[in-house]
Amino acid sequence: MLSVHKIEKFSKEFETKTPQEIIEWVADRFSPYVAMSSSLQTQSMPLLHMATRIIPDLPVLFIDTGYHFWDTLMFREKIAEEWGLNIIDLRRASHWDSFVRQNARTLPVEDPNLCCYLHKVQPMQNALKGYKAWISGIRRDQTAVRARANFLELQEDGLLKINPLLTWTKADVSQYIKEHNLPQHPLYEKGYRSVGCAPCTIAVGVNDDERAGRWAGRGKVECGLHTVMFSRKDIAESQNEFLLDATKTEDK
Ligand code: SF4
Repeated sequence: MLSVHKIEKFSKEFETKTPQEIIEWVADRFSPYVAMSSSLQTQSMPLLHMATRIIPDLPVLFIDTGYHFWDTLMFREKIAEEWGLNIIDLRRASHWDSFVRQNARTLPVEDPNLCCYLHKVQPMQNALKGYKAWISGIRRDQTAVRARANFLELQEDGLLKINPLLTWTKADVSQYIKEHNLPQHPLYEKGYRSVGCAPCTIAVGVNDDERAGRWAGRGKVECGLHTVMFSRKDIAESQNEFLLDATKTEDK
């Protein structure tokens, strides 16, 4: 277990390291108790490519919300087969099934925080219980929240989150994709620069922010995986009463 002091020290050192060097450090220290998460969209491909070449049997956690575009699911199948990936599909807990069936159409629009919580955050929380380290592909240039992230972040439950691409820009991602001739998500060329669930994603212009098409016009920019996931404080400060009730129920 790394001390908080060492985590801060390594995190500072990683500001000048390449993503590959950081992943090699993770592999040496944490394999096989390390997993990565991937949404399998175009900007996710470089990290997926480099991480699974350094750690070939790396578990790749893919959240299957049930609201994905068909194109995303087909792309997931193609990449898993062609790259020989160890993809683990994460789904909501079955005790939500009845509630979701009754509210499937309205939930993403009327209560996206609850929808993201039960479809994304909670399944990821549960899946990560079996690991010591979690590789994530967030970048500082994506959102204001992500701009404050560090390379190493110790979560409240002791899991170490590693963000190897933190200082990469959109241009770095494009350059890597070009150099390695990586496949693009089939919706990318249709203007979907960041692809999430179908009810919450729209196409954007070439000059728009990469994530401008996610929850557009709803005042929401993050699903919670990189914000509230391990922070009871953030959840406690949430204005969403249904989410609070739901998390209280889960705590029992
Ligand atoms: S992105 Fe939209 S549909 Fe997907 S889990 Fe979140 S609110 Fe639900």
